[in-house]
Amino acid sequence: MEKNELLEKFSAYAPHVDTSMLGKAFEFSVDAHKNQERASGEHYFVHCDAVASSLVEWKMDLPTICAGLLHDVLEDTSVSETQMRGEFGEEITKMVVGVTKLDHLQFSSHDDAQAENWRRMLLATAQDIRVIIIKLADRLHNMKTLNFLNKEKQQRIAYETVSLYAPLAHRLGMFQLKSQLDDLAFMFLHPEEYEDLSQKVTAQSAAREATLAGFKDGVEKALADTDIAHRILARTKSLYSIYQKMQRQIKPFEEIQDALGVRIITDTVANCYALLGIVHTQFKPVAGSFTDYISIPKMNLYRSLHTTVMGPGGELVEIQIRTEEMHRTAEYGIAAHWRYKLGEQNKDIHLEEKLNWLRQWIEWLQDLKSPREFLDSLKTDLELNQVFIFTPAGEVKPLPAGATPLDFAFAVHTDVGYACVGALVNNKMVKLDYQLKSGDICKIITKKGSMPKKDWLNFVRTARARSKIRHYLREKGIVA
Ligand code: MN
Repeated sequence: MEKNELLEKFSAYAPHVDTSMLGKAFEFSVDAHKNQERASGEHYFVHCDAVASSLVEWKMDLPTICAGLLHDVLEDTSVSETQMRGEFGEEITKMVVGVTKLDHLQFSSHDDAQAENWRRMLLATAQDIRVIIIKLADRLHNMKTLNFLNKEKQQRIAYETVSLYAPLAHRLGMFQLKSQLDDLAFMFLHPEEYEDLSQKVTAQSAAREATLAGFKDGVEKALADTDIAHRILARTKSLYSIYQKMQRQIKPFEEIQDALGVRIITDTVANCYALLGIVHTQFKPVAGSFTDYISIPKMNLYRSLHTTVMGPGGELVEIQIRTEEMHRTAEYGIAAHWRYKLGEQNKDIHLEEKLNWLRQWIEWLQDLKSPREFLDSLKTDLELNQVFIFTPAGEVKPLPAGATPLDFAFAVHTDVGYACVGALVNNKMVKLDYQLKSGDICKIITKKGSMPKKDWLNFVRTARARSKIRHYLREKGIVA
């Protein structure tokens, strides 16, 4: 983005804020990075600009966008912290310091360096939440340009994204960003599955749109007599979340029962409940499906009414009803709290209180002494239903929780699965039904001429392993 475009986009939501500092940060960053290139061959500043653009899109405040433009200046150029403080003051400089990584030469291993950098960044985040928001914007652009790096780095960065950054975005309620990060990482970690799934989802979307149109009509008719302001949006799911669901339910895409998702956005809380009443009168609700996250918000600030009803064609429709403001919070999470209102910054007095969990969690993490322990706890705390297993060569295979060495073997290669006779996990022999844990290094022992056993079907967890084993046994006439 050109400088003027960035300033204009910012002024569009913060019309009364003086943008001279933003213009200055823009030019300072261009100049500081002028002789540097990204791996893509582009000017380095393109990256700083992309980070600032995301922050503007999330409607962040001026100091955050300045810090976004300057976020790599201390790490990658000769500009000193003192110099930056002189030019941009304490608030912006502190944020930049928070996202700056330590020199890798100070550490004995990559793990130690990674752990220490996370520790530093989270500590800075405990003091100023905007630090993690800049870091997430940084990661988003790095993921978008990951194809310019070598395979090994792609795997390592995609793994860090899916195991730390995306879950953190989720915890902070930044759902839009979480889905983007997940799908980008998914593309690099499982390229074939990604391609396959994205084709299937595209093929299916026309049918879903028709069903949605039918439902919309029904709601519009029911609302014809009222003047409640509203708009209806289709809810789209990230490819990665569909993939996770397939893994969890051990089912192929075609058998995943995915309810149609719809959001109804209105103006006031009272109208959310009024709309709920209308929807429930018009369509039969599914018993036990109603949840009120308006009265009782989730820990990550999310608020909405949730209900599931029978649609016009008898299909299930999951409905979320919320105000515009709740919608913004649901999409942008914590980032929604820095928005400007009529030129005044709208300070949420409850924000500090709402973020107590984050500070407590970071404090607790600080107590962990070894870098390994620190990183492990961070990952375990953030991960939802997924484990990450490494090959002896350091390649990572994400698997559903409860996955066994056999699932891992089939994830490596079908032939490895077929010929599997044993497994070493972290150099120890384990049974084939052993439950793998995140960070395990798994080595599969194969024997030529060995064949899949029928009882394997009793404990494999992934759809891939199950279908491959079944296919083999069926061909041999062992199962029907
Ligand atoms: Mn960066």
